[in-house]
Amino acid sequence: MDTSEIIFSGDTAGIEWRLPVLRFKGSDPKAPKIYIQAALHANELPGTALVHFLCEMLREADAAGRIRSDITIVPHANPIGASQSHFGELQGRFDLGTRTNFNRDFPLISVGDRDTLTEDLDRHGAVDRLKRQLMHMALGCDLVIDLHCDDESLQYAYIDDAFWPEAADLAAALDMEAVLLSDGESSAFEEAVGYAWKHETSEKKTQLPGKLSVTVELRGMRDVYPEMARKDAEGLFTFLAGRGGINAPVALAPFTGPAVPLDNIEMIRAPQAGTVLFHRNIGEQIEEGALLATIITRPGQPDGTIEVRAPQAGLIVTRTSARLVRRRADLMKIACGSASKAARKPGALEN
Ligand SMILES: [Zn+2]
Repeated sequence: MDTSEIIFSGDTAGIEWRLPVLRFKGSDPKAPKIYIQAALHANELPGTALVHFLCEMLREADAAGRIRSDITIVPHANPIGASQSHFGELQGRFDLGTRTNFNRDFPLISVGDRDTLTEDLDRHGAVDRLKRQLMHMALGCDLVIDLHCDDESLQYAYIDDAFWPEAADLAAALDMEAVLLSDGESSAFEEAVGYAWKHETSEKKTQLPGKLSVTVELRGMRDVYPEMARKDAEGLFTFLAGRGGINAPVALAPFTGPAVPLDNIEMIRAPQAGTVLFHRNIGEQIEEGALLATIITRPGQPDGTIEVRAPQAGLIVTRTSARLVRRRADLMKIACGSASKAARKPGALEN
């Protein structure tokens, strides 16, 4: 395992960021090149824990001469976010200086223009420098795995249609409980990588066989445990072996969970502010009209509550960990059999 650091200066005097990058050299130049990063949203740590155990497995495989692919790993992709302690609470999702989401506004370019990402980096602020260097590494690879997590959540992934159903092997290997088929219309890291591949030539590609760029949501923010991380690492190792990256036995049952387009996600929002009492939890299959939550809008008052019910039947994939919610706050994502009647803008489900 080769360890190096990307070093780039901050936007104020005296600040320098250091980003550790781990690399394994593969024996087969024809094997798919692999890029894995975790914690781009700096406080989403299940992926960092996974990567810790994965590297242990890869070092063993390396010692046995079983690694075929070049593998690049960034175990914690966001030192800037990790430093943002805001009144004692880590703000890992948005850059406080520019108010941008660390996982949006990645450059939408063709893969042929990859090297322009790191030209004249001094023209860009620190967050864009970070984004450009991450994307530059990813675009040199074929399989790109971006490890995130949700709030309270099942394990699921956002996978662009262009990689489906080939990517069902990843869903099976990681034992995912749902797949959300995205439209590739946002500027998230995973979608910017897919965009670059689709626009390699003047005619836009709609399928990308042998490639993969994916956002994996490794359950919830607090699902950081040794057994879980080790199991997830074993799953990802199996996936990499299945794609020819490592010489290792692969036994995968088919993925049988739901794979639904983003239009089929019911985003359950709070109609009013208040104290939320959840009646249903993640992983539950619910019927149309099921009582999901009661919101206490006027505590102690008669008729001081309102009910939130399911617009259609489906699987509860995520739930907020907040118990005091604002009007229009996201309460749940439910994966359903048909499209939601609520209007949805193209791109990501959340800001
Ligand atoms: Zn995230």
